[in-house]
Amino acid sequence: MKMVVVGGGWAGCGAALAAVKQGAEVVLIERTDMLLGTGLVGGIMRNNGRFTAAEELIALGGGELFALTDQNALHRNIEFPGHRHASLYNVARMEPGVRKLIQSKGIEILTRTRITDVEMGDGRIKSITGKRDEDSVHISGDAFVDATGTAGPPANCNKYGNGCVMCILRCHSFGGRVSLTAKAGVKEMIGRKGDQIGAMSGSCKLLKESLDPQIVSLLDKTGVAVVPLPAAKILKGKLSLKCCQQYAIPEFEENIVLLDTGHAKLMTPFFPLDLLREIPGFENARYEDPYAGGQGNSIRYIGMAPRDDALAVEGVENLFCGGEKAGLLVGHTEAICTGTLAGYNAVRWIRKEKPLVLPDTLAIGDAIAYVRQQMTTEEGLGLKVTFSGSVFFERMKARNLYSTDPKLIRERVHKAGLIDLFAGK
Ligand SMILES: Cc1cc2nc3c(=O)[nH]c(=O)nc-3n(C[C@H](O)[C@H](O)[C@H](O)COP(=O)(O)OP(=O)(O)OC[C@H]3O[C@@H](n4cnc5c(N)ncnc54)[C@H](O)[C@@H]3O)c2cc1C
Repeated sequence: MKMVVVGGGWAGCGAALAAVKQGAEVVLIERTDMLLGTGLVGGIMRNNGRFTAAEELIALGGGELFALTDQNALHRNIEFPGHRHASLYNVARMEPGVRKLIQSKGIEILTRTRITDVEMGDGRIKSITGKRDEDSVHISGDAFVDATGTAGPPANCNKYGNGCVMCILRCHSFGGRVSLTAKAGVKEMIGRKGDQIGAMSGSCKLLKESLDPQIVSLLDKTGVAVVPLPAAKILKGKLSLKCCQQYAIPEFEENIVLLDTGHAKLMTPFFPLDLLREIPGFENARYEDPYAGGQGNSIRYIGMAPRDDALAVEGVENLFCGGEKAGLLVGHTEAICTGTLAGYNAVRWIRKEKPLVLPDTLAIGDAIAYVRQQMTTEEGLGLKVTFSGSVFFERMKARNLYSTDPKLIRERVHKAGLIDLFAGK
């Protein structure tokens, strides 16, 4: 059983781990020189309903990546506007830890390897081709997971955003994102809201060294700094651009909200540098990610795979998808949960077993079905789904799915007959 995962973000890492635990030989392919994709600059975990989803996946036997993000948290159980019991991982230290874990499980990792084409036969992907540095690669497999995300490439950031802002994905160095699903001939879906195609990423990083020591000390101590903006400096309308609708609330427009993820995570898609430097404490501010954070941010949610609730891509028998590729799902937690299911189901498919759909009595199962249904409507294509806020968190509360009690969440998984489903032998 050979399983090939393309895309080494949180979804790809989740898929690779789930598949190896089911006894498959697994190759994880990533076009850049680091795993974690957009997770290299994120950091917020366990806020609002993400706590529930993380505990569900732990009870389902897929908790290794959450154990690592918990271990690597700089701050735990903190609050910031609209968000409770969040933890913040250290973005500088996360990737090496994940890489070690994945290697320790016997998964082959191919970084600097960009897949650019697929070879089809009998309605399936037989093999994929691309380049590792300057060398051609040709990799065959029994089943594949598309975890290539939806961020970039620069043509999309140029066309639908404010240009390439030099983000962590480093498309100019490693080549842009290429979708396995699209290469297999499947028509992808596009997120859009009004005139905006895709959505702009919702946060930047400032170098802590460039900020006033008092702000840094508050960040180091509490994880959060909320600095009110003078009325004249409030940039109206920026929030509607954001893909992270859980942060599209007035507090994020009227204040500078900083979170400590090792750098100072600035909770806004972009903020003109000249204007930022007029605010006391930010006179020397400098962006760490994206480098042109004064101008804009990456564009995401352009190419998503049509798929069923088992995360099987429609029209290709042996292709599954996770993370942003699986729909308008925002977040590391969301990517880990869907990636895990995609990897698990790809192995079931190889074994000729029916891929599994998680029940809607679990927040994860409900989110997977909900986002797919929403994406069949024009209005739904403008939504983003996350456990951490906005429409889906409200839905979790209304359906009594939100809980911060691990014991209760475990009981729920037990009731569904799914304890340790992903744990393997
Ligand atoms: C600036 C920013 C801040 C964020 N902050 C947070 C946060 O604090 N908390 C949170 O929960 N979420 C956050 N998010 C959202 C979150 O990072 C994503 O929703 C989630 O991590 C997506 O994971 P993914 O694996 O689906 O995709 P990605 O992270 O996009 O990973 C896809 C990977 O596939 C690789 N790839 C693409 N094409 C190919 C190819 N052809 N061959 C090989 N490799 C390929 C890419 O290089 C990339 O590494 C943030 C996002 C951004 C951009």
